[in-house]
Amino acid sequence: MDRSSQLQENLSAIQGRIEAASLTHNRPIDAVQLLPVSKTKPASDIEALYAMGLTAFGENYVQEAIDKIAALSHLDITWHFIGHMQSNKTQPIAQHFDWVHTVDREKIATRLNEARDGVPLNVLIQVNVDQAPTKSGVNPDALDTLVDHILACPKLTLRGLMSIPDPADALALAQSHARLKTLFDEIQSSGRVSHQFDTLSMGMTTDLELAIAHGSTMVRIGTALFGARAPKEST
Ligand SMILES: *Cc1c(COP(=O)(O)O)cnc(C)c1O
Repeated sequence: MDRSSQLQENLSAIQGRIEAASLTHNRPIDAVQLLPVSKTKPASDIEALYAMGLTAFGENYVQEAIDKIAALSHLDITWHFIGHMQSNKTQPIAQHFDWVHTVDREKIATRLNEARDGVPLNVLIQVNVDQAPTKSGVNPDALDTLVDHILACPKLTLRGLMSIPDPADALALAQSHARLKTLFDEIQSSGRVSHQFDTLSMGMTTDLELAIAHGSTMVRIGTALFGARAPKEST
């Protein structure tokens, strides 16, 4: 099978999983967006999926992403940065991406806000729901302060929350998803945020059904769509 047919087959399968989970959990059919995660995969894969109707892609590594963004500048793609945020990378990220999922501290928000030109950058706050010591993400008890800080940044639009939970076991994962959804609902109903606070980025290849059950509006899918990734040395 050629690469394009393989991607088409994977895409149909993943769309089937999203639809089935949405149906099972009484979610509206268009409530969950598929965000393909194309890290380590070639621009030609993105181009093939774009031809199949996908117009948003998630990337983790800044230089790799910038190369693909340049190579695909003839396409109308919405680029999401979903990688670990380093403060010395805020300038290129603010310049080249449309969304950032991994804002987890005030310093990063401030720097993105200062570096952004043009329309505001859509940002999600990454929450360390399980308060795992080695993980990125703001602790839940510091979330409110970070929300207020981002709301005061004119070049940032706060769109919601994101998590990368530890895949310990199914029960821990479900609790983690449920906690993020509760935090999301609390902020949404607090009256502080606009109607644009509408995105809960939660769920990956192995846990997308569980995430949809708990209210995810955006699942970030790499492996199920593109196949396994070669191990990447840390950058
Ligand atoms: C790589 C990555 C994904 C995709 O993971 P898969 O398990 O391959 O679907 C999703 N979110 C983030 C933040 C990632 O780094």
